Amino acid sequence: YNEKIEVAAKLIISSKKSFALTGAGISTESGIPDFRSETGYYQKMDPISALSRDVLLKNPKRFYSEGYKILEDLNDKRPNMGHIALAELERLKLLSGVITQNIDNLHAKAGSERMYEVHGETRGIHCINCGKSYDFSVMKAKVEKNEIPPKCDNCGGTLRPNVVMFGDMMPDDFQRAVMELETTELLIVVGSSLTVSPVNFLPRYVDRLIIINSTPTPEDRNADLVFHEQAGDTLKDIVTEVKNINGI
Ligand code: NAD
Repeated sequence: YNEKIEVAAKLIISSKKSFALTGAGISTESGIPDFRSETGYYQKMDPISALSRDVLLKNPKRFYSEGYKILEDLNDKRPNMGHIALAELERLKLLSGVITQNIDNLHAKAGSERMYEVHGETRGIHCINCGKSYDFSVMKAKVEKNEIPPKCDNCGGTLRPNVVMFGDMMPDDFQRAVMELETTELLIVVGSSLTVSPVNFLPRYVDRLIIINSTPTPEDRNADLVFHEQAGDTLKDIVTEVKNINGI
């Protein structure tokens, strides 16, 4: 393990441009279940269909009793060592930024500055009719008053979260992330099963790949280094090693 940490640190230091690609697994240590592991949401429900555009429009009661619960629980969570390590690498100018599938805002809370949120975010909501934006707390207050589906104060249209749901188009951040990766040498994948399309194709854009995920992924065989370890400890150890090598 220690030798691999040293190789990872050297890969990061020697790469001209590096990005991290994160998934739900970087946030499980903050108490947010992922989708696909043994303690994930799939064990008790089908999160993808509960968070689909179709269900929101045709069966809002299901959306707001199942899918919305996943989003509502994210607000009070805190970043862990993994998020903090990536923010530190960015501060040290050894990471250009983070591309995340997560919608929990924990990279921003940890101090990451350059972020591409390719599955949206849970800071805001908008009306599907007039497009007016509101803070997420507006939706929470309406749902708590049993206004289901919550309606726009401007036009009466249905309000929805700014997260990418099954059946939605990918946001502009996804295309921007692809453009970044076209000039990126190293990608560090953290806590993603790499099974959600089109994000699972992103590792193909880079020459060097490090994967940190507790279970195997379909890209393991294309990676320079694979850690089947916990994200927080591994990233913390890599940052410590980077600082050692650079005498910081
Ligand atoms: P996923 O659930 O498919 O995969 C998560 C992976 O992380 C699994 O392979 C698991 O083995 C691994 N993992 C779990 N805990 C880990 C840890 N402590 N250290 C290292 N690895 C760990 O998640 P995905 O690939 O991100 O795709 C699921 C979709 O669900 C994404 O669209 C994501 O946006 C969404 N999602 C987001 C959150 C969040 O914002 N925190 C939570 C659940 C799901």
